[in-house]
Amino acid sequence: MRRRVILLGPPGSGKGTIAARLKTEFGFEHFSTGHLLRQEVAKDSAVGRQVGLFLERGELVPDELVLALVESTLAKSRPEQGYLSDGFPRTLVQASAFDAWSGTRGLAIEQVIYCESSEELVLSRITGRRSCVACGHVYHATFVPPKTVGRCDECGGGLAQRADDSEALVRRRFQVYLRETEPLVAYYRAQGNLTVVDASQSLEKIMARIEVMLRQ
Ligand SMILES: [Zn+2]
Repeated sequence: MRRRVILLGPPGSGKGTIAARLKTEFGFEHFSTGHLLRQEVAKDSAVGRQVGLFLERGELVPDELVLALVESTLAKSRPEQGYLSDGFPRTLVQASAFDAWSGTRGLAIEQVIYCESSEELVLSRITGRRSCVACGHVYHATFVPPKTVGRCDECGGGLAQRADDSEALVRRRFQVYLRETEPLVAYYRAQGNLTVVDASQSLEKIMARIEVMLRQ
């Protein structure tokens, strides 16, 4: 099974939900750069204070900050576990720097899953989104509700709407995505390891397709 996997797609295309399913069903080591970054903000570390300014404006965090955070996280993990990334890489600079870094460590990407989604679909999904303040697990009021309202199934932590999930910021982030991240689709397609899933399909359909592809 392919175990070094990147999830690509606009914010709100369902990457977090897919990642959570892959983690529980196949034991993937999941890391979300969004969660790693918000953890730094919550800790009010030096990095976190820099990061917070970019998140408040709906702008991308600079490549070198993100790369340092991801590489230090992966360097601590066991290589045979692989990884599942949700939200990284976000720019061509990050993608090519990560290819160089991971290639020399036997951690090269094996599969990129692109969750294709329109801006309107993203909006309708994101306004119902809630995430665990403790572990980062993502729920949706309608599509993926927790067993107990306001409580995380995984760890019992409180669920909150992220401050950057308002409509204006969602639209802004979508534009940033189109400009900065969408070019990665062509980049990975040229490498021959890209699979496209239609994010408007049911989660079960999407998961069935992803499972077949990861076992190829
Ligand atoms: Zn939790």
